[in-house]
Amino acid sequence: MTEKITAEDRTECIQCGTCCTSGGPALHSDDLIMVRDGRLPKAQLITIRKGELAHNPLTNSLQRIKNELVKISGVGREWNCYYFDPMEKGCTIYEKRPKACRSLKCWDTAEIEQLIEKDTVSRLDLLAEDDPLRPHIEEHEKRFPCPDMQELLEKGPGEQRGDLEESINQEIIFRQKVVTKYDLSLGEELFVFGRPLFHLMISVGGQVREVSNRLVLSWD
Ligand code: SF4
Ligand code: SF4
Repeated sequence: MTEKITAEDRTECIQCGTCCTSGGPALHSDDLIMVRDGRLPKAQLITIRKGELAHNPLTNSLQRIKNELVKISGVGREWNCYYFDPMEKGCTIYEKRPKACRSLKCWDTAEIEQLIEKDTVSRLDLLAEDDPLRPHIEEHEKRFPCPDMQELLEKGPGEQRGDLEESINQEIIFRQKVVTKYDLSLGEELFVFGRPLFHLMISVGGQVREVSNRLVLSWD
């Protein structure tokens, strides 16, 4: 009878792909070169802005991100890493995979635990000093910072609902202007600005509907 190998019994990666099926990894400074030389195109990256909620595998809970992260995007309903091939159940860039993937050893998590939220890169680290998108990113952060997602999740918007509704509408106008000016694809937009505010509202229990060309935000 063949003995079942569990993660604890493993001593090396068998490239089963299990760790590639819940979104892509956050990028670290070691990965900068792959973005700069085009091996990791920005259209396949997504920014998780400071203050957004993300799953912390160490505590198995949602936590506010203290510093902005740039991750490889997920795709499809399953949100598999963009570079995961579900047919082959493997990584299509395995030999050149990012640092977080090389550090993730499902049989011994010590190395990846040391890496979480450390030495990560931000959007501005990945853009040239003279990139014309930089001032738009800075203005976006100033005008439309990520709200307190933990509080929204636990208590809802309270008296902030009207202000949040105005922000989600103004943010869409702001994004559309920049997207049109620079002809950004959806992937590039998600790198430049992260997820729209209205998506963030939906992720913590808000409902958004369009009425007369305006988004209306409600909460149960
Ligand atoms: S590290 Fe990931 S791909 Fe490798 S064996 Fe573990 S779960 Fe599978
Ligand atoms: S880059 Fe490769 S190893 Fe890393 S999560 Fe994506 S598919 Fe998996």
